[in-house]
Amino acid sequence: MSLFGGWSGSRGSFFGGIHPPEHKQRTAEEPIEVVPTPAEVRISLLQHLGAVCDPLIKPREEVHLGAEIGRSEKFISAPVHASISGTAMRATVATLPNGRHVPVIPIRAYETQPLADRALYDAMLGGSWPLGEAEQFEPGEIVESAREAGLVGMGGAAFPTFVKLMRQADQPVDTVLVNGCECEPFLTADYRMMVEAPQAIVAGGLLVRRALGAQRVLLCIEDNKPLAVRALREQQGPGIEVVVLQTKYPQGGERQLVQAATGRVMPGGGLPMRVGVAVLNISTVAALAAAVYRGRPLTHRVVTVSGGGIRQAKNLLAPVGTSYRELIRLCGGLTPDAARVIAGGPMMGFSFAADDEVADKIPIPITKGTSGLTVLTRREIQQAEQTACLRCGRCVDVCPMRLVPTRLALATRANRVSLLQRYHIGSCVECGCCAYACPASIPLVQLIRVGKIQFQNP
Ligand code: SF4
Ligand code: SF4
Repeated sequence: MSLFGGWSGSRGSFFGGIHPPEHKQRTAEEPIEVVPTPAEVRISLLQHLGAVCDPLIKPREEVHLGAEIGRSEKFISAPVHASISGTAMRATVATLPNGRHVPVIPIRAYETQPLADRALYDAMLGGSWPLGEAEQFEPGEIVESAREAGLVGMGGAAFPTFVKLMRQADQPVDTVLVNGCECEPFLTADYRMMVEAPQAIVAGGLLVRRALGAQRVLLCIEDNKPLAVRALREQQGPGIEVVVLQTKYPQGGERQLVQAATGRVMPGGGLPMRVGVAVLNISTVAALAAAVYRGRPLTHRVVTVSGGGIRQAKNLLAPVGTSYRELIRLCGGLTPDAARVIAGGPMMGFSFAADDEVADKIPIPITKGTSGLTVLTRREIQQAEQTACLRCGRCVDVCPMRLVPTRLALATRANRVSLLQRYHIGSCVECGCCAYACPASIPLVQLIRVGKIQFQNP
């Protein structure tokens, strides 16, 4: 029975996976709220997979919303833009939740902003979007718009989008999958985008189709989101249709989605293009529509702030570079028993102690890939004591990559790099299914992450 109401009609699934509690009901019906302009944002010069940007502005320089402030000439990179109007400060360093130290440019806000509140929402997401004009653009124009707007995968991977939109003569794409599964517990940012801005998503999906010369676009949604299905079905047309998939974690994983939606199996280590498919997140395609039709670079994104440790859970449209602390403040602050802040959802996110966030340390800024912020209480993170492996095989049954997690954990503990290779540690997508299913509470994902480091530095 779905938390959203028991609607069904799904098709398509994949091997393994789990059904963790969804915990989405607290924010699912919370409309997207525009964040008041923060006093300061900190724009990371590395918000994507690829090369770090060089700063294009000097301290004390005036910048306006949307101005390019960082860029790299390396191919795999994405420029960054000012998400508010204000005065640039001296570049500094921030530590992101994944532990990476990155250069950031602080911008102090002007008192008056060119866009705020409803006007900002309308400029980014609202109004009507052209659904029949994608064919008027040359594919290269769409790729260029994506590059100049600094688009990256907003589902978390943050891979520069323009690269995915480039046609490869030897690997033609016939099917575009727009990923609206959002299978991580607690997160509802994509869900609200689908409910509130379905036209922008469809407009963006058609642009992707045009860029890649694909035949069809499938808008992929899990069967626990009937309102999103309805909203997108009202906008679908020739070449673009809604596909409803079973609710199962990690349905939104690239490999799992390709298999469930098309029946095609990606070869080990290969990209979706190898089987004629491109996969983009729904927020990313909406941002593409904003870039192409409205000339808007990627400066804001929707972030879900939820979990038992937050007083008032919300979906917020926030400037990139807003601090986690500010978002928590806008949600009424932490509850007394808040213990852990997670960037993203609890399955794949990176966590840190709640004390660190509220303490007066350098604020952690959100980036283009930050889809949520989950604050868990002591009770929510309490785990049974770890015991020895019971050899029950549950971790194997649920692994969507058909790995043997218990062997990977043992090989890591023994620092046996040759075994890590034999057991295909590189194929682990760190989805967390194995650890979730393990009755012995063995921290399998943490061990596998350590194993990956051992493998890379033998
Ligand atoms: S081994 Fe990796 S891919 Fe398999 S369930 Fe565990 S975390 Fe997921
Ligand atoms: S699920 Fe846990 S206890 Fe069972 S085999 Fe895997 S590691 Fe061992």
